[in-house]
Amino acid sequence: MPSNYSQPLNQPKNILILGGTIESRKLAEKLVDDPNFRVITSLAGRTNLILKIPGELRIGGFGGIQGLIEYLQRAQIDFLIDATHPFATQISHNAAIAAQSLGIPHLVLVRKPWQREREDNWLEVEKMEEAAKIAFNYGKVLLTIGRQQLEYFAENPKSPNKITWFLIRSIEAPNIQILNSQILLERPPFSLESEKELLIKHQIEAIVSKNSGGTETYHKILAARELRIPIIMVQR
Ligand code: NAP
Repeated sequence: MPSNYSQPLNQPKNILILGGTIESRKLAEKLVDDPNFRVITSLAGRTNLILKIPGELRIGGFGGIQGLIEYLQRAQIDFLIDATHPFATQISHNAAIAAQSLGIPHLVLVRKPWQREREDNWLEVEKMEEAAKIAFNYGKVLLTIGRQQLEYFAENPKSPNKITWFLIRSIEAPNIQILNSQILLERPPFSLESEKELLIKHQIEAIVSKNSGGTETYHKILAARELRIPIIMVQR
């Protein structure tokens, strides 16, 4: 009997990818040309500078777990793939509950966290608030945490002897103002050479980072290692 596996299914399966990461875009690229699937990527809509994503796109929150359940039903989603950032915990939680309550297969793509190596000088913390307290002990600090949670760095405790200066790197301009700072609008990936140049040019003394994992921003870890610059690392 001939196999049907290479034939398109009668009805394509609807796949919802919860995105906002390089992995979600790569996954959409891989799936979009397969006639067995209709691919929809969902973004939170945090940035206006959206890179082209193959397949269909929807933007904005669903309205909590109930809103997501209603969307999944309305769009007749057959598979839910959570390819969000490891620090986007709310949407992952909502997705797990919504998928379970509807009995929809649910796959989570999890990036491995970066592992500290012997030459690394990481100050590991659990919360951004703690990272900010430590950051104010340094003179020049590179913030690589995106636009969210910058508020913790706004309260510069103006010690007369030491005022911390922040270089804030993000894809889009932050919506709060941080005193004594400079904004650097850039989108990853960054090369090792450009990361080293940046750290040297601005005489950076410490970096604040989330332990996001992945390859796109890993060169800052290598650059800091080579230049012996401490990283205040917010763990998952
Ligand atoms: P979050 O705290 O987990 O989610 C907050 C709310 O934003 C969710 O409850 C949901 O709203 C909405 N939301 C989040 N992701 C969504 C998506 N892909 N599609 C539709 N709605 C979404 O998330 P976050 O940390 O603010 O991150 C937002 C997005 O940015 C995520 O998609 C993530 O992949 C991406 N991102 C985050 C980080 C980070 O460091 N957190 C870094 C890079 C990229 P409703 O409850 O209304 O549905």
